[in-house]
Amino acid sequence: MATSKLVLATRNQGKIKEFRRILDAISQGAIELVGLEDFPETTDVEETGSTFAENALIKARSVCLETGLPAIADDSGLCVDALGGSPGIYSARWAGEHGNDRANTEKLLMELKDFPEQERDAHFTCAAALVLPDGREIVKEAIFEGRILFAPIGSHGFGYDPIFAPQGLLISSAQMSAEEKDLISHRGKSLRAIAPQVIQMLSSLG
Ligand code: IMP
Repeated sequence: MATSKLVLATRNQGKIKEFRRILDAISQGAIELVGLEDFPETTDVEETGSTFAENALIKARSVCLETGLPAIADDSGLCVDALGGSPGIYSARWAGEHGNDRANTEKLLMELKDFPEQERDAHFTCAAALVLPDGREIVKEAIFEGRILFAPIGSHGFGYDPIFAPQGLLISSAQMSAEEKDLISHRGKSLRAIAPQVIQMLSSLG
């Protein structure tokens, strides 16, 4: 079977594995997903958008332009109702330093310390964007609803998973297996939503 190359705009191995797991299940090997480790010369573009969709498009456009190949990118974050949707697009650097998961979760727990369970609703959002060298673009967004716990629990996942309880469940998303989380997560849902069009558009490129 002919495979089409698709570049994922990330250097994060965990994210590459997650995208492969979800895309492979749908495309049955028709897509060869590669990360930016195959393109070390690409620049890290600044995420200057004001929405998840804008940031996902900025990343995918830049990688498509620099590699000349179809590119896919995602942008995600946690939106807390009691904080007016924050940390939102600033989720990765909420406590200052980019990617400090522990500092980010501690800051959030502190900001919510006076909020009772019924006022701790939150959701993750993920926007997945595909950009083709001929200029075609698509974006799909999905959410993962739940609430913020009072203390971290669980060792799977990353980011805010230890303090996020999916709606209707009594565990945190850090207590779920990767496969269980994929089924209901913002990233799993947005990828499954965009995948059929990715496959169709890549196969139309020949
Ligand atoms: P990005 O899309 O990789 O830039 O993710 C932004 C930030 O949002 C991450 O660094 C995490 O703090 C948070 N985040 C996004 N998705 C998840 C998730 O599934 N679990 C926990 N935290 C997440």
